[in-house]
Amino acid sequence: MRNGENKEAGRKEIAILGSTGSIGTQTLEVVRNHPELRVTALAAGSNVERLEAQIREFKPCAACMWSESAAADLRTRVSDLDVKILSGMDGLMEIASMPRYRILVTAIVGMIGIRPTIAAIEAGKDIALANKETLVTAGHIIMPLARKRGVSILPVDSEHSAIFQSLNGEPADRIEKILLTASGGPFRGKTKEQLAAVKVEDALMHPNWSMGRKITVDSATMVNKGLEVMEAKWLFGVDLDRIQVVVHPQSIVHSAVQFVDGAIIAQLGMPDMKLPIQYALFYPDRKPMAGKRADLFELGQLTFERPDPDTFQGLKLAYRAAAEGGSMPTVFNAANEKAVALFLDRKIGYLQIPELIEKAMDRHKVIADPAVEQILEAERQTHEYISELV
Ligand code: NAD
Ligand code: MG
Repeated sequence: MRNGENKEAGRKEIAILGSTGSIGTQTLEVVRNHPELRVTALAAGSNVERLEAQIREFKPCAACMWSESAAADLRTRVSDLDVKILSGMDGLMEIASMPRYRILVTAIVGMIGIRPTIAAIEAGKDIALANKETLVTAGHIIMPLARKRGVSILPVDSEHSAIFQSLNGEPADRIEKILLTASGGPFRGKTKEQLAAVKVEDALMHPNWSMGRKITVDSATMVNKGLEVMEAKWLFGVDLDRIQVVVHPQSIVHSAVQFVDGAIIAQLGMPDMKLPIQYALFYPDRKPMAGKRADLFELGQLTFERPDPDTFQGLKLAYRAAAEGGSMPTVFNAANEKAVALFLDRKIGYLQIPELIEKAMDRHKVIADPAVEQILEAERQTHEYISELV
């Protein structure tokens, strides 16, 4: 019997970092629909009310809030319950290494996820990974460590789940190409000039998916797809020249693998993150899931096109960052994070996002094979540089 599997009840125990966010709440919806899952621990940034409600419903043994003051507030609110309330990075680390549970769902946003993910792998936990920034910046540490500890990194990102489902255990040397699909976001077909006047509201209108604000802007710029190219490189062990981004506006083909014999295997379905979340939690099993089915007759046509490198500068920069490797993906990611936050605060225009990323990359001297401290330092310096520029 594995760690975190409760024999009496036959339940699989999970912990969720980022439980109040878009992926976190959808993970809890999956738990609601599957009594065989049990929540051991929850962590969130600042939403005390929502975390309290989640604690009351799912009865975890531990919960963590990022700030100590929020944790103190939460402690008072749930003093009638038997739950340990933690805070900060120490709290995230304590949750990651708790002996009881089996799968850590990393639904936190940003590079804050690196240390707890490493701690969980060290403790022998499987990772249901949504927090792509962790792999983009520290994939060279995480993937070898996971192999060494014999734990699985189960993708939650819909494209990577589709690739994972299409591969279904086949080894990397049978992959000829990964076909990573992208909706093209709200600005597909627009020229760079037409994008100059884009407002925050325009960038937040994703045609097919409802997600957190940062990742929605990243979908409009296609920086998200760039991060996903790097994520795919680490998850599936393929070189960049074998990862092809395909714009597919209907978001029905969630991605595909072309094998060495020319066969293309894809996963299709309605855009709903609960499917990849559920697939990761039950892998290698596949469980029933209610919800709208993709009706091919109703859809009629599925279309595919090449991404326009001029409209989507962010994608071009991502390939460059991935090719230069080492600490460069961290700089790409950190510069984008800062630029998107400034854009959402209406401090910069839309086209300044890729401009700022490029500037930060141009001035950075790549550190090959960076340690966690060096990754976090590169992040800090990049954030500082962008703040000074603007
Ligand atoms: P979100 O902003 O909706 O939620 C983020 C969660 O992290 C929240 O619960 C927040 O409280 C928590 N958090 C933030 N800072 C924290 C901190 N310092 N300590 C503890 N908790 C903290 O984001 P999201 O859209 O759910 O995305 C989460 C991750 O999943 C991201 O890496 C994103 O790229 C990835 N992802 C999201 C989607 C999607 O559909 N939303 C799809 C694919 C991948
Ligand atoms: Mg995705």
